[in-house]
Amino acid sequence: MNQKPVAIVGGGLSGIACARVLHEKNIPFVLFEKSSILGGRVQSENVQGYVLDKGFQVLLTSYEKTMSLLDLSSIQLKAFDPGAIIRSRDHFHEISDPFRDPWGGLRTLFSSVGSLGDKLLTLKQRIELQEKKDHEIFNEEEYNSHEYFRRRGFSASIVEEFYEPFFRGVFLDQDLSTSSRYLRYLLKKFSLGKACIPKLGMSQIPLNMAKPLPSESIRLNTSVSHIEGQNLFLEGGEHFEFSHLVLAIEFDAIGKIIPSIDLSIRWNGTECFYFEAPRAPRSEKKIFLNAEYVRSFDLLAIPSNIHPSQAKEEKALVSVSRIQGSSSRDEKEIKDELQTWFGDEVDQWKLIHSYSISKALPQIDHLKPPESRVLPEHPFAFICGDYTRHPSIEGAVESGYDAATWVIEQQKKI
Ligand SMILES: Cc1cc2nc3c(=O)[nH]c(=O)nc-3n(C[C@H](O)[C@H](O)[C@H](O)COP(=O)(O)OP(=O)(O)OC[C@H]3O[C@@H](n4cnc5c(N)ncnc54)[C@H](O)[C@@H]3O)c2cc1C
Repeated sequence: MNQKPVAIVGGGLSGIACARVLHEKNIPFVLFEKSSILGGRVQSENVQGYVLDKGFQVLLTSYEKTMSLLDLSSIQLKAFDPGAIIRSRDHFHEISDPFRDPWGGLRTLFSSVGSLGDKLLTLKQRIELQEKKDHEIFNEEEYNSHEYFRRRGFSASIVEEFYEPFFRGVFLDQDLSTSSRYLRYLLKKFSLGKACIPKLGMSQIPLNMAKPLPSESIRLNTSVSHIEGQNLFLEGGEHFEFSHLVLAIEFDAIGKIIPSIDLSIRWNGTECFYFEAPRAPRSEKKIFLNAEYVRSFDLLAIPSNIHPSQAKEEKALVSVSRIQGSSSRDEKEIKDELQTWFGDEVDQWKLIHSYSISKALPQIDHLKPPESRVLPEHPFAFICGDYTRHPSIEGAVESGYDAATWVIEQQKKI
């Protein structure tokens, strides 16, 4: 057996998942991460006593591979209630999941968003998707998501007031040009699981996942510069010999390490504003979607309704997100709109912090079933990362498994 370690470049979820599988198989590895903390695009920080995720995100309990790598007792996941509260035509409308919340489901049946036909189509779609395997969904006929809802026969009302605002927030995609295969995959996952956040913020997911890894195999603050043959060079000149290389970095960062490869990608970005409120404006544990035609933000959540400890001293934490570039309105204008939702109490809200993340999710107009990601001129290197599967926590983790499976197969041949 070749004793040279495997080099994993990138300490986001894909790199960590790969490391976990290799570690379980006793295959030596070293993971290089350029920043001072693991987690890549899943980060949280504590600001003025508030737990702030760097961009609003949730973990679905139906993400099977991700859940299998977590110690659930220590990260203390708690779920948003299924469905959403929609702001449209200057009023709130509640949408529930009739399978998990029968009373709410009954209210939904009579809510003004969508027709009875839409609700029956939604149920039909759910039953159909739950019976499908993921790979069957990834091989289906493909359109953009906007076209998908039209073809399925949903009314303009439910599309404009529920599906579009919901998936705009999930894909960070204003036009819903995202592949219908990915949309259907997520519709399935949302119907099978709950949307959760850990008690101490989303960063607990990568940190918890990495916990069983030996600390001597992880090098933080270590940026990989380039490779030559089976040597990896670090910024600063140090070099490192590897048996196999797993590139778990952003797709458009690969060209920096292997200049002969020119890979480009388009990104969807987001802006997230966190407010301190003397009390929660609503007590529901649901996500709020902004379906108004003219709006300054797309989605609102109250994380302290899920985990009160994410806010300090009995106060509330309100997270307000929008697709990057969708509105140039500033904090004052966002608060003006929030005032139309919740009244004068918004005057007392204080902005704690805001994040602007231009590289949040790779755009996925076309989603292919997973394929081999070995680089033709570099047969000892494999690329993984969410973009090789789909832009989600589970997509990143699955891609890490793909890479580890490839390494294991290669090492059997030595
Ligand atoms: C704001 C936001 C909201 C999201 N919402 C959701 C959601 O609700 N649900 C969901 O499932 N997913 C969501 N996602 C997507 C999910 O977080 C990502 O798909 C996933 O984290 C990507 O992991 P990754 O390992 O593929 O890449 P990354 O996390 O990007 O990891 C790549 C790592 O490589 C490192 N790196 C790069 N170059 C080098 C180098 N030269 N040397 C060493 N290290 C290097 C980087 O520092 C980084 O840590 C969201 C993402 C964002 C940003």
